[in-house]
Amino acid sequence: MLNLVLFGPPGAGKGTQANLLINKYNLTHLSTGDILRSEITAGTKLGLEAKSLMDAGNLVPDEVVIGMIASKLDNSPRSNGFIFDGFPRTTAQAKALDNLLEEKNTSINIMLSLKVEDSELIKRLLNRGKDSGRSDDQDENIIANRINEYNNKTAPLKDYYSKQNKLQEIDGVGSIQEIASNLNQVIENL
Ligand code: AMP
Repeated sequence: MLNLVLFGPPGAGKGTQANLLINKYNLTHLSTGDILRSEITAGTKLGLEAKSLMDAGNLVPDEVVIGMIASKLDNSPRSNGFIFDGFPRTTAQAKALDNLLEEKNTSINIMLSLKVEDSELIKRLLNRGKDSGRSDDQDENIIANRINEYNNKTAPLKDYYSKQNKLQEIDGVGSIQEIASNLNQVIENL
């Protein structure tokens, strides 16, 4: 199995690169942001609870996203592997993920961390907001809060994976193909 954490701040290009990687390596894409947005669209209780937090750019509670990932892992027993995109975002989530994978006799192979400057992130997110319809991409204050949440709660996970010798940082600025080829190179060398 190949299990990748695609990591980086909002707007780093995780979703774009995940879509290329799932096709190349035949992996299952697990994006907690996408799952939460589909819960909101479906009008579920979970979606309703998450919506106000997401609209403000705050993280939703750990137990909510951990539960979602646990059930998705259970639902894909024959997968070649998983790309975790936007998850884990806190140390509690990273520990829970390690435990869930261990129960299935597998583990994370590598964390691919995309590096992009804040000013570039803000530009990209505002631009994406014009088409995506995502309200959290359309307001500079909300974007700033999302970047803050990332810096305070999520970025420390680089240390968590680094201690397991699983951190690989990649420049997230360049053409989509250039970045994809750098990611592929890391994966081929595993
Ligand atoms: P994303 O699509 O990854 O940018 O996520 C959009 C929003 O969903 C975030 O700003 C959070 O409110 C919420 N979210 C997504 N994934 C997580 C997670 N792993 N932990 C907590 N909140 C999350």
